[in-house]
Order: sequence, then structure tokens, then C-alpha cells
Amino acid sequence: MSTELLDTLAATVGAANVLTGGDLSAWEQDWRKRFRGRALAVVRPGSTAEVAAVVRACAAHGTPLVPQGGNTGLVGGSVPDGSGRQVLLSLTRLNRVRAIDPANLTLTAEAGCILQSIQDTAEAQGLLFPLSLAAEGSCTIGGNLASNAGGTQVLRYGNARELCLGLEVVTAQGEVWDGLAGLRKDNTGYDLRDLFIGSEGTLGIITAATLKLYPQPAAVMTALATVPSMEQAVALLQLAQARLGPGLTGFEVMNGFSLDLVRKHFPQLRQPLPPSDWTVLLEQSDTESDAHARQLFEGLLEAALEAEVITDAAVAETLEQSHAMWHLRESIPLAQAEEGLNIKHDISLPVSRIPAFVASTDAALSARWPGLRLVDFGHLGDGNLHYNVQAPAGQSAADFLRDQEHAVNTVVYDAVMAHGGSISAEHGIGELKRDELVERKSPVAMGLMRAIKGALDPKGLMNPGRML
Ligand code: FAD
Ligand code: ZN
Repeated sequence: MSTELLDTLAATVGAANVLTGGDLSAWEQDWRKRFRGRALAVVRPGSTAEVAAVVRACAAHGTPLVPQGGNTGLVGGSVPDGSGRQVLLSLTRLNRVRAIDPANLTLTAEAGCILQSIQDTAEAQGLLFPLSLAAEGSCTIGGNLASNAGGTQVLRYGNARELCLGLEVVTAQGEVWDGLAGLRKDNTGYDLRDLFIGSEGTLGIITAATLKLYPQPAAVMTALATVPSMEQAVALLQLAQARLGPGLTGFEVMNGFSLDLVRKHFPQLRQPLPPSDWTVLLEQSDTESDAHARQLFEGLLEAALEAEVITDAAVAETLEQSHAMWHLRESIPLAQAEEGLNIKHDISLPVSRIPAFVASTDAALSARWPGLRLVDFGHLGDGNLHYNVQAPAGQSAADFLRDQEHAVNTVVYDAVMAHGGSISAEHGIGELKRDELVERKSPVAMGLMRAIKGALDPKGLMNPGRML
């Protein structure tokens, strides 16, 4: 039975693109090395028509499919389970930019295009594709859309959903839906595009997308500022929004320990400010000029210093210094990975509730697990924290994760719910948070989600067991 399917797949995409032996860990193991499965085969189609043919063949055999882009997802949704029955569908050969339309400010790209290559293609035309995250050198636009990725520019430009005008999708039945029109207005019924965005491969396969572009800003300013407390970080955000308006394109926060970890594991990275409980990274984009940007930005920081909202600041004087500041921020997940296994939380809260959440949850965790280390950083401007927990120094990270993850999650997620938040801001549900989702989302919402899944994928072959 599976031999027959494998023969059909080889005939469809070429035998060289159906991998069944050798080291398949690049596809079978997730980025965090928390989930490891076994695929019936890794199948690498080269076109939408081939994707559709693969889906039809798998459907005919009742074989489940797990779509995968860059395999950088953080919730274990992009790797097969351990059954050896699932086909791992890698989209990375669908990597053409099909069109760019500067007057319509759109770019149409295939799902397997690396995010950075899309940014570069836009930039070569003097345009900006603002989706930006630390995995941009290896994640794909298909994966970004399937997980509705956020990143560092959401504050100004929105998440992947808001940057997408249209999709091409292969349905669970193996049909192709061409919804690529680059329209900013289209009220012709249910929004199918928004159904597939954020569906984590559970409803169909995204094969291409039409994306929104923006003009490149004339100038970009970056600064680091130390703030005495999370309250003051929120006060700085309000001040920056008031003074810069839509010019504020990035507002990230990092706690002292997260930068300590970067200092420890990447000592070659210069940290321009002394250690502090909290450090904020601000970015301003200006449509006028360098001088205009600088005047506004320095005015903001001076006002913040005067009001004692910040205690110190360093403004990047060159593009290299600006990149170095972002590099510090983006090195936190990597430094954390170097430090060992940890318990990650990607949480969303009303910005106004964040100081109270952090104070009470830090205290509750430290009381129960003395010495526990919090790597708290993230996109404060979006109300999104990566509130991660590292085992107390000297304790085995693996043992702590195995024995305490559930209890730690309960403390954190109970607090998140009590403050009106969400247990997943931008990373999605996948395998990691599937059971937690049932506990935390309303039964009515879960019922509607199951109804959609049943209608679009009645055989349950699209990334089964993920999200739902
Ligand atoms: P994969 O990991 O391959 O897949 C992710 C999910 O989408 C899986 O469920 C998969 O089945 C599904 N999928 C993939 N391709 C398709 C497709 N074509 N059709 C249907 N389903 C598909 N995320 C953020 O939001 N913000 C961040 O700031 C951020 N920073 C990160 C930093 C690092 C260092 C890393 C490793 C990850 C980070 N992420 C971040 C996680 C983020 O979700 C991924 O990096 C990215 O969006 C996933 O893209 P991918 O191509 O790797 O998808
Ligand atoms: Zn993030």
C-alpha cells in the first residue's frame, strides 16, 4: 500500500524528490529539538500542480500530510509524528517570486521563498516588505503565513495576516484555489484567505501569496534605552507613540537576565549600555529625511530622560550600529538555546496590564522555584512577551523541563488569563499548546474551529493532531 503511494509520489515529483532513507533529521526534528518524528517520506514538489497531485495521491491512500517550510516553528507543528505514516511535504522548492507590481505595491511569491529573499527583492525595487523576525534567513513565507508570524515591526505594519492580500491554496481534496488577486478591498463572501492564514497547515497547503509592500523609509533611527521598571517601559512606549506616531516602527523590551545570557554566550557582541533591570530597543522610521528623523528621535529621548522615564540611552550613529543593536535583541533566543532547554511562553496581554502581570508572576514563580531564572523579552509595543523560564543555575535544564513544565505553565497561563491575555501571541499552537488550548479557549470558539476543520478537511489528513 505505502509502496504503491511512494511509487505514485516518485512519478509525480521525481524519485530524487521523495526521500525515505538516510539522515532525515533536518525535516523530522524541530528547531528547538523538542519534537522528533519519523516520516513515511519527505516529498519535495516543485510546483503548485505537483503539490496538488501529491495531496490527491495521499488523500486516495488516506495518508496524512505535514506541510513544512523552513522548519523554524517553535511549537512542534512542522515535523511528523512518530508513526512513520505521515508524508512530510516540504515546500522549499516552490521558491520563485512570480511578480512584483510597484504601482499596486504588491509582490507575489511562492510559499517556499525565504523571508529574507522577499525582503531583498522588494528592497531592490526601492520598496519594503516589513515582516521581520530573527529566523528570516531560513523561514519561508508559507510558514510565516501558516503561523501568522509577528516579529519586530508589527507595531507599525501588522503581523503576517495584515501583510497578505491574497493566497493560492491547495485544498485537502487536492484542488487549487487561486485567490492571489492583489486587492485591498474584496467583499465577496467569507474571507477564505484569513481562514488559511494562521491555520498551521491544518486546513490546506499554501502554495503562493500576494503580499503588501510599502515605500522604503527615508531614514531609520535605532536606540537602546535603560528603564528602571516595566511601568517606565510602558510609559516610554506611550511617550514614543505620542511623539513619533506611525514613525515608531519597533519597540522591544529585554530584561537584565536575557542580556546577561547574550553577554555570556556571545561576549563578542558589544553592549553599549551598562546592565539594567530593563532595556528597551526603539526604532523610528521617517519618510522625510535623516535630519528630521534625528531631531524627532533625540527630542523624544531627551524628554524621556528629563521625565526620568529612562536612565540612559545610546543612539545608533551608523547603519552598522543599528544592526548591532538589533543583533543583540535577536541573539536572545540563540543565547537561551545555548544555555539549555527552557520553558517558553509566547504570551499576549493588554499593554496596560503587563507591569502588573510581570510583577505578580515573577514573584509567584520565584516563591515556588527559588533561583528560577526568567528570560523575559519581546515585542512590548504589541503587548507580546516571550516570558521564558530557565532552570535555576546548577540544576539540569532537561530534568527541570521534564518535571516542572506543566506546573510552570499552569502558574503562567493562569496569570495570563486573569489579566485578559492569550497563551499564544505569534508562535501558534502546534503540538506544544494543543491541550492547553482546549483548557483556555471558550467551548463555543473550539466548536466553531472544529466545524471549520471538519468542513474543509473531512478526512482529517491535513497536519492531524496539530492545533485541534
Ligand atoms: P515551519 O516551521 O516549517 O512551519 C510552521 C507551521 O506552518 C507548521 O505548522 C507547518 O505545518 C505550517 N506550514 C509551513 N509551511 C506551510 C505551507 N506552505 N502551507 C501550509 N502550512 C504550512 N515567530 C514570530 O512570529 N515572531 C518572531 O519574532 C519569531 N522569531 C523567531 C526566532 C527564531 C530564532 C526562530 C527559530 C523562530 C522564530 N519565530 C518567530 C517562529 C516562527 O513561527 C517561524 O520562524 C516562522 O514563521 C515559521 O516559518 P517556517 O517556514 O520555518 O515554517
Ligand atoms: Zn517574537
